[in-house]
Amino acid sequence: MPNTDGTGSRTAIVTGAARGIGAAIAQRLAADGLSVAVVDLDEAACAGTVETITSAGGRALAIGADVSDATSVDTAVERVVDELGAPTVVVNNAGILRDNLLFKMSVDDWDAVMAVHLRGAFNTVKAAQKHMVEAKFGRIINLSSTSALGNRGQVNYSAAKAGLQGYTKTLAIELGKFGVTANAIAPGFIQTDMTAATAERVGVPFDDFIKYSAEQIPVQRVGQPEDIAHTASFLISEGAGFVSGQVIYVAGGPKD
Ligand code: NAP
Repeated sequence: MPNTDGTGSRTAIVTGAARGIGAAIAQRLAADGLSVAVVDLDEAACAGTVETITSAGGRALAIGADVSDATSVDTAVERVVDELGAPTVVVNNAGILRDNLLFKMSVDDWDAVMAVHLRGAFNTVKAAQKHMVEAKFGRIINLSSTSALGNRGQVNYSAAKAGLQGYTKTLAIELGKFGVTANAIAPGFIQTDMTAATAERVGVPFDDFIKYSAEQIPVQRVGQPEDIAHTASFLISEGAGFVSGQVIYVAGGPKD
């Protein structure tokens, strides 16, 4: 879809988009008229998201890439440029959990979480930023979390999610003069495979975990991936060009 400012096609990259929040964001951005690169570790796993988008009349491409690996990301971005057009929207959503209490956490579990969330978000923006600068338009969204404020059993994840907030603000400062905004979305409890895995780790049936969590949230429900997709849709819109360097908590209340 052409930009209203005549800068050509609008193409988005959404990482970790095979399922959960990433899939919902990819579908929403496609519905908003963007061509969407659906990036995840396993290309075949992206088929469902791509099918949902294309059957609704949108344009999407499945790409297998490991965001923690710079070469893999560079290759993926080259494919996006060739097959969908130069990317001007990047949503860093790929994420993993390796939860444990500090005294039991391995260095590998620390490093794995840093590699996917922090190095991953660095790799994608590093590879895509020149296309945004050339277009004089760009929108970057990084998925943080209410866990950035601290969460038992998540010393690695909370550090990474807090790190993404500083990363976001610095991107906003460096890239603002090129028409590029960078913002973070910090979700609270969103019902996905990730929160199902947390329920399993703490030994609580997922339905009970959802019910208990909803009772602690001011709006009295847990979030759905579409709640995050709606916020992403606003942040990537052309009208949101004066919103940059912000962390938007989407948590059904002021915090988790
Ligand atoms: P999810 O259901 O676990 O989905 C995450 C996706 O990221 C998976 O498809 C996963 O692929 C992919 N991924 C993992 N490592 C990757 C890598 N190295 N390269 C490319 N893709 C990779 O998680 P979600 O709940 O939708 O969460 C999405 C994002 O929101 C994450 O950043 C998460 O930290 C954040 N978040 C979630 C919540 C929540 O309550 N759910 C709250 C706050 C923040 P595989 O399936 O192959 O592993």
